[in-house]
Amino acid sequence: MPPKKPTTLTPDSPVYALPGISETRAALFAKLGIETLSDLCRHYPRTYENRGKTTTVAEALESGCNHGEPVSLVLTIGTQPKVTTIRRGMVLTRFTAFDETGTVQITYFNQPYLRDAFAVGASHRFFGRCEKTTGGRLSMTSPKHEPLNAADPGDGSTLPAIYPIYRVTSGLTQKLIAQSVERALAVVYPADREIPDPLPQMLLEEQNLCGRRYAAVNIHIPENEAALDAARKRLIFEELLLFALGLRQRRARKELRTAIPMTAPDMAPFYDALPYALTGAQMRSIGEFLHDMTEKPSPMNRLLSGDVGSGKTVCAAAALYIALKNGYQAALMAPTEILATQHYEDLAPLFETLGFDCALLVGSTKAKEKTAIKSRLADGTLPLVIGTHALLEDNVVFANCGLVITDEQHRFGVGQRAALAKKAENVHTLIMSATPIPRTMALMLFGDLEMSVLDEMPPGRQKVSTFAVDESYRERLNGFIRKQAEEGHQTYIVCPAIDEADEEMDGLGGETVQDDRPTMKAAVAYAKTLAEEIFSDLPVGFLHGKMKPAEKDAIMHRFSTGEILILVSTTVIEVGVNVPTATLMVVENAEYFGLSQLHQLRGRVGRGRDKSWCILVSDNKGETARQRLEIMCKTNNGYEIAERDLELRGPGDFFAANPDGISYDVRQSGGLRFAIASFCDDMEFLQRAFCAADEIAAFDPMLEKPENVLLREAMEQRFGVVVL
Ligand code: ADP
Ligand code: MG
Repeated sequence: MPPKKPTTLTPDSPVYALPGISETRAALFAKLGIETLSDLCRHYPRTYENRGKTTTVAEALESGCNHGEPVSLVLTIGTQPKVTTIRRGMVLTRFTAFDETGTVQITYFNQPYLRDAFAVGASHRFFGRCEKTTGGRLSMTSPKHEPLNAADPGDGSTLPAIYPIYRVTSGLTQKLIAQSVERALAVVYPADREIPDPLPQMLLEEQNLCGRRYAAVNIHIPENEAALDAARKRLIFEELLLFALGLRQRRARKELRTAIPMTAPDMAPFYDALPYALTGAQMRSIGEFLHDMTEKPSPMNRLLSGDVGSGKTVCAAAALYIALKNGYQAALMAPTEILATQHYEDLAPLFETLGFDCALLVGSTKAKEKTAIKSRLADGTLPLVIGTHALLEDNVVFANCGLVITDEQHRFGVGQRAALAKKAENVHTLIMSATPIPRTMALMLFGDLEMSVLDEMPPGRQKVSTFAVDESYRERLNGFIRKQAEEGHQTYIVCPAIDEADEEMDGLGGETVQDDRPTMKAAVAYAKTLAEEIFSDLPVGFLHGKMKPAEKDAIMHRFSTGEILILVSTTVIEVGVNVPTATLMVVENAEYFGLSQLHQLRGRVGRGRDKSWCILVSDNKGETARQRLEIMCKTNNGYEIAERDLELRGPGDFFAANPDGISYDVRQSGGLRFAIASFCDDMEFLQRAFCAADEIAAFDPMLEKPENVLLREAMEQRFGVVVL
């Protein structure tokens, strides 16, 4: 027996409480991160369809079928729908419909019941892509359809103009989500009661923003374009304001703590132990750590940002050395076992030379050894540990930890970082990030951290030669890959792919929303062709997003030893993975990647002595696509690329969550996702939200004044109680 549905609904009621949502469906909603009615209200549309702008049949033909974009037509049904079975499992429903300017042939697949939905002479609005038949007529396949209301003057004006399109998951339709959202809105924002607005009235006026209920409703069910725009502005502003306030509050809280006292050691032995001289940027960063750790009253709380290969590890080592020399223990945590092991292999010999013992603690460390490491951490006899999440386990206790460093921070959740820091009071923290990020964005995203930037590469780095090519180069490209393999060098082939399970289903017609991205199936098929036909005599490996970490690690390991020479991957190759003998990065359908993603991918090669290449394959002839790939060919500087990326794509992409984690989703951690900011393409507007937060925080950093209490509640609700 399923549990009884509650009768009174509140914003915190589970979605299961709504009609039409079974337990099974509720589980699907949970997959989208939706548990409660409030969550539903915050499940903002991914995009919108504007069906209000209708055209005529003649106009549609004239415009070359609107260049492949969907059109909205108001048509009268001309012929009785005819259902024919063309083969087993394939039923067509066909009819014609017309307006004053022409006739359209309309076809639906496998929906025979539609025969009764269209009566001759009735008017409907149809929305979808159209095509010109060989006979010069217009045709539509599976358009969305809505009957005109009796009161409609004939132009569809009584129907809603703008339709929300939601992120869905298989088993949930657009229609069900839209309906549920509408029901949730009625509960969370009841029409008969005023819901207090967390943004102070003054601020709304000053920033020219609409009220909360108006925004909440119009983001889902917009009255018109202007209403949608107002709603969007208000919600972006609110979300970013709350986020910025959270950062400011976290910073204020940290500044209240007293640092573990340290003094500046003689760094000469450390520098002498290195096989190379440090760059100016590395020296500057180490100077900043030294200042933070020895001269400031509150603990170090710093981000070290540097492009791939800029030499962050040795800077981290310097910070570790400062802590160790002061008699404290230190920990370095990496997001994967491979990365942790690489750090260990780099750093253990260095610290041994310097007289400090170092251990590696990862998931696969033998139980006996784990126990030994833990007991030595607890009694203080082990000064330095490098590891993965294994370091977070409750029974890992430090005797006197003074510094915690996390590498590639964006792979960790805020909560995890907090757990590690909690292992020692007032510990100094350093976070390393390999995502080059424009200064303006960094100030916003990392407003709670001090920043050190490695904007200079160690000398002698060779440039990865980058070329953008189209399909006509395929033969030559395959020859080139073969040549690399014959010389014993590895090649990465990266294909963007979406998983069909996550494809969007449309609620009205039941057909799939058009998405031109290659599917996972296509990627698997391509990998198979490469392995079994084109390179059948060479070892080809396949890595995809749905693999378990251990499986991925195993494949990566075989690739790094050269047992696999060609690695086809639909997923991110771990940031930071080092395979110095890999010399070629091929990116298929390169137009689907952001510039910064491409830059990250390119950073996987050119890590050894051998000349390396990056080939960006794209058949997209569009101007922007071409421009973007050209930037990649021109420069290897990650910060320059990030700036151009910001210009070309707008700031929204920085805030958008990317499940694969190679773009700027630096703050997409601990379940934190920006629900709305990804809609934002206006940098100035974004900055306004952050400035407003600074003004509020300057007077009331902990948001304790009565006028800010609602703000604080909203912030805590949205981004969690600030832990650090
Ligand atoms: P990342 O910033 O990507 O983590 P690493 O710290 O792994 O970069 O450094 C990349 C490579 O550069 C390593 O092999 C490291 O030994 C080397 N390296 C770092 N600093 C210097 C330097 N100042 N001069 C020469 N080589 C350096
Ligand atoms: Mg690194």
